[in-house]
Amino acid sequence: APAQDRLAERAAMIETIKSHAGSAPSAVEAQGIDPAVLKAMGNVPRHFFVPEEQRGAAYRDRPLPIGFGQTISQPFIVALMTDLIKVGPGDTVLEVGTGSGYQAAVLSPLAAKVYSIEIIPELGQRAATRLAELRFDNVEVKVDDGYYGWPAHAPFDGIVVTAAASHIPPPLVEQLAKGGRMVVPVGGPFAIQLLMLVEKRRDGSITTRQLLPVSFVPLRGGRVR
Ligand code: SAM
Repeated sequence: APAQDRLAERAAMIETIKSHAGSAPSAVEAQGIDPAVLKAMGNVPRHFFVPEEQRGAAYRDRPLPIGFGQTISQPFIVALMTDLIKVGPGDTVLEVGTGSGYQAAVLSPLAAKVYSIEIIPELGQRAATRLAELRFDNVEVKVDDGYYGWPAHAPFDGIVVTAAASHIPPPLVEQLAKGGRMVVPVGGPFAIQLLMLVEKRRDGSITTRQLLPVSFVPLRGGRVR
C-alpha cells in the first residue's frame, strides 16, 4: 500500500519539520506543531502527489512544481498552516487551492469533512482522482474560483488558502464559522507576502494577525461577478 512506502524518508521529513518549528511564530512556538498534525503528515505518501520526475525529491522540505506553473507547498508550511487552524474531529474545513491534493489529504484524518476548490480544471480533476484512489473519502474537490468560497457547505470551522491573495477575501471571512480560524497568505505578486491568521470570535467579531513572511503562487480569479 502506498501509505507504507518510503516511511523512513517521511519520518525524516517530520523530524525536519519539528526542528523548523522553533523558528515559527509564537502561535505555534509554545507547543510546537500538534503531534496529530505530524501524524497525519506521516500517513500521506507525498510522492504520490508530485509528478513522476519529482518523486525522488518528494520528502525534501521544499515546494515542488506540479505543472501549470503551480507548486505543492513546502511540507513545513503545510504543517504550520494545518496546525494554525486547530482542526477538531467534528470540523468542516475548506481549502482554497487544491493543487496536488496533498494539503487536503493531510487535513482529511483531522476533520470530519474537507472541501477543496481548485481553479485549474486539470489539477482539480487529477487531485480528485488521486485522493479517491488513496481513499481520502471525506475530501470533496470542485473546480471553481475559490475566492468566493463554497457557500453551500458554509460555515467552515477552518479555512486554508494556499495561494497569495491581494487582500483577505471577504466571502471567505463571511463563510468562517464563529470560533473558526482561517490562514491566508496576503500580498501582491513581487511583493512581500505575509501569512495571516483570521479568527472569528464567538460574538462574530474578526481579529487578524500577521504571522510570518511566505512565498506562494498568486490567487487568481476574484473578479466581480
Ligand atoms: N495546497 C496545494 C497542495 O497541497 O498541493 C498547493 C497549492 S498551490 C501553492 C496553489 C493552488 O491554488 C494552485 O493549484 C492554483 O491553481 C490554485 N488557485 C489559484 N487561484 C485560485 C482560486 N481563485 N481558486 C481556487 N484555486 C486557486
